[in-house]
This record gives sequence, structure tokens and C-alpha cells, in this order.
Amino acid sequence: MTTIRPGARGDDVRDVQTRLAALGYPIDPEEHGVYGNATEGAVREFQQRRQLLVDGLVGEDTWQELVEAGRTLGDRVLYLRYPFYRGDDVRALQARLNLLGFDSGREDGIFGERADLAVRDFQRNVGLVPDGIVGPVTLDALLRLRPVGPGPGRAMVREAEVMSRMSATLDGSRIAVDAGHGPGDPGGVGPTGLSEADATPMMAAALVEELSRRGAEPFLVRAEAAGSSAAERARAANDRGAEILVSLHLNSHDDAKAEGASCFYYGRERYVSRPGQRLAELIQEELTSRLGLKDGRAHPKSLPLLRETHMPAVHVEPCYITNPGEEALIRQDSFRREVARALADAIERFFSPAGSSAPAGDASETAGAISGSGPAPGEQFEHRPQNDTEHDRASSA
Ligand SMILES: [Zn+2]
Repeated sequence: MTTIRPGARGDDVRDVQTRLAALGYPIDPEEHGVYGNATEGAVREFQQRRQLLVDGLVGEDTWQELVEAGRTLGDRVLYLRYPFYRGDDVRALQARLNLLGFDSGREDGIFGERADLAVRDFQRNVGLVPDGIVGPVTLDALLRLRPVGPGPGRAMVREAEVMSRMSATLDGSRIAVDAGHGPGDPGGVGPTGLSEADATPMMAAALVEELSRRGAEPFLVRAEAAGSSAAERARAANDRGAEILVSLHLNSHDDAKAEGASCFYYGRERYVSRPGQRLAELIQEELTSRLGLKDGRAHPKSLPLLRETHMPAVHVEPCYITNPGEEALIRQDSFRREVARALADAIERFFSPAGSSAPAGDASETAGAISGSGPAPGEQFEHRPQNDTEHDRASSA
């Protein structure tokens, strides 16, 4: 293109002025169609704001930037194509995805492979067809999700119910069951020496048995994983296409009297997995009402396994291993079976279509949608504490 410079006049100048005005750099009406001082001043201000070379001329870069700055999310359908879509709409999309916990990479305004993966990840997890196309339905789902913060909690719970459009039943559902501890990773230890590494595999086995009996297809994460780290277990659950994950632990506290059940789902500063929250709350309800355990409630937490798995995932601590009474209970086969039944009841309720409604959207984008699952924490790996005890203390705060 020919560089537009002071003194120029005509349609090109008018185009530049119209774009500048739309971006909040109004031009003196007397200068319309003429590249005068006011226009040059506006161009310089725009260049400065957008971190371009400030020369007061409209060359290729400045023109491109003017075009990109004029893109508003929703103006056009975005998807991965070559050359990449560029613009402030893409930047807004990236920021939105990142804010919600889906890793779309740098907010550079370029719709590349990373953004494509993040969009598909998002779609998959709100039950849309993961086609990578940001049209009205996907955009609506994106904008409807409110990042967690000091804002209204109830509204988000309602959104969670809309989102958790569970069309599946327990029958045939793939459920990842994780014994939170194993060889080389004892976890908390009770007064008579029972460790989480002793107890959680037994709890996991009981849950697998109960879920199998009800027609689900549970699998033990540790048996599938390449190693025992949270990242390796998360990968195993992801690779197997688990619809939900339940990681079993026991709580610990210096005070031997501390007792009861707690549950954790993925959440961080401005984001929570709402389906994860829903599942965690159902589990709390079942554990407390069915077993009479004290309610330590469900909490958001950015634990590595919760963060790196792509399905609604919960970290359950039905009891305190440090409480002598609860440690004794956990040793009982009948109690572990009862815990498994409570968890299975909660999972069954989670999968039940009753009480949840389909998200608004046109049939073409929702047809064939997979069963609902949690907004995936799409971020990079977070360093995992060596001793894996942070979660065990989390609910004692
Ligand atoms: Zn643990």
C-alpha cells in the first residue's frame, strides 16, 4: 500500500479517519478527507497506545493495526485457518479463554494452533461439538461463564446446573478412580499406624467394585498410569477418556479430634470448575447424610491432579486418618463399602439428567454433544509439592 501522510486527501484518508473515530480518536470534522494536524495527532496517539513506531504516517503496519483494532469479539466467526485470523477479537478470545483456565497461550491477537486447541478444549468441556469454530453458540457459552471472584456465588451455581447437561447415565460411564497414595508416598498416618497409602487403595478398590456393580466402567488410575506422579495419573485419566475422576484421600490434623468429610474441586483465583464443584457438593451431601460424617464442605483448590485432568475431578477426604475413631472406621471393610456406596450414589446423581437443563444453542452446534464435563484446567503443569500434604491440611484451615 502507499503510505498515507500529512497533506494527503481522498477516500483513503476518510477511511483512516473513520477507523480512528470508531476507536475513540475523533477527528475535527473540518479535516474530513484531509490528512491535517488533527489526523496526524490522532495517528500518533494511536501508534503510541498500540506500541507501534510513532511517526504519524499510515504505512502498512499502522494500517494493519487500525484494521485489527477495529475487530470486536463476535463480529466474525473465528477458527484456525491460514493465514491466521488476527485482531482484537482474537486477543479478547484468548484473554477470555485464559481467564477461564483454558490455555490459549500468549494474548497476541493471532488465532494459531494454541488458540484452536484451547477453543476445542473449552467446547468439549461445556458439552459443545469440539470443532474449533467460534460462532455464536460457542461465544455465548464463553461469555456466559463468569470467572470466579468476589462476585455472586449463587449465580455461578445456577450456571453450573445449566452447564452440567448430563445426558449420560452411570451405565457404561468411564470413571477414573484414583488411590491418592501408594508405594513411596504414605500420606497421612493415623495413631495406630494406618497410612493413606494403606487405606486409599482399599477405598479405591471398594469404589471400583461398587461402580462396576451399577454398570459403570471404572478403572484404577494407578494401574493405567506410566508412573505415580500427579501428572502421570492425570494423563492416564485423560488418555482413557474418563468422564469423571475421583481421587481418594484421608484428611490429617494435629488435633486428633478433627473429624469429618471434605471434598475439593478445581478452582483458582478467578476460575472454578463448576461441574467439579457440583460433583464435590453431591459427594459431601451423600457422605454426611448417609454416613453421618461431619460436614467439612467442598472447596475449590488448584491441586495438580484436579488441574491437569480434563474432566470433572474431585479429591475426596471422607475422614481424618488422624482421628482415632475415624481411623478405626476406615479399617473396617463394611465402612469402606458404605463410603463407596455413598460416592456411587453421588456419582449417579451427577450423571442423572434430572434437575439439569440443556444450554441454549442451535442444534447444529449442540447435536452430538458429548456428555457434560468440567471446564478443563488447560494450564501448564504446576509444580507439585514433594510431600503431597498440602491438600490434607487444606480443610483444617
Ligand atoms: Zn492424601
